[in-house]
Amino acid sequence: MALNVIMMGPPGAGKGTQAERFAGAHGVPKISTGDMLREAVRAGTELGTRAGAIMGAGKLVSDDIVIGIVRERLTRADTLPGFVLDGFPRTVAQARALDRIIEGRDSLIVVKIAVSEAELVRRLQARRVCGQCAATFGGAELAATVTACPCCGGPLLQRADDDESVIRARLEVYDRETRPLMEYYKARPTFRQVDGAQALDRVQAAVAAAVESAAAAGRTPVEQGS
Ligand code: AMP
Repeated sequence: MALNVIMMGPPGAGKGTQAERFAGAHGVPKISTGDMLREAVRAGTELGTRAGAIMGAGKLVSDDIVIGIVRERLTRADTLPGFVLDGFPRTVAQARALDRIIEGRDSLIVVKIAVSEAELVRRLQARRVCGQCAATFGGAELAATVTACPCCGGPLLQRADDDESVIRARLEVYDRETRPLMEYYKARPTFRQVDGAQALDRVQAAVAAAVESAAAAGRTPVEQGS
């Protein structure tokens, strides 16, 4: 069965890091709409110009834009063994569109990483991104005095949308737009929740176990017997 995984959770829950680790360990691509949009902003494309201002304010880019990006990405052959979506879907409209896009493929496995709001604000304020290679570091990974990227020596920056007022706006948006999404998915036999307040390695192990059990639940009786 292909591992068609959605990594869900509020900004700062660690879904990007866990999606990256899961993708590396299972040989499937990580598809992050946030990364693709930021890349478009950096490249100065028309899409980037339209999306950049919305992202800077902590709001959601329109469903049409992100659904189009994901639809195109999921037609590529490297997604056949599976994929990990990070940051998509964020609304029920996007979730419905995703169901249509992957119709006829294996079931979606939905993993929610749960973390308290106070912890989320603390983590997002401490997060730094390399301006050169785009590697991301949580506060626990770097001493406060480190200003150069441990990977490439590039400058470590705070993401424009990790400023406290923007963080609050993003968490509010998450509450309003994304919670209904949990309602959309949580009754599925392939929905799983893991505790994101643990150490990264333990969250990674919990995610792997959750995906394995969801994949077993998602298999049809015919496949299980063969
Ligand atoms: P992220 O890196 O996932 O936190 O995304 C950064 C920003 O990109 C978000 O605050 C939104 O402005 C935009 N974005 C990313 N993914 C989506 C999505 N699925 N729907 C709408 N906007 C998105």
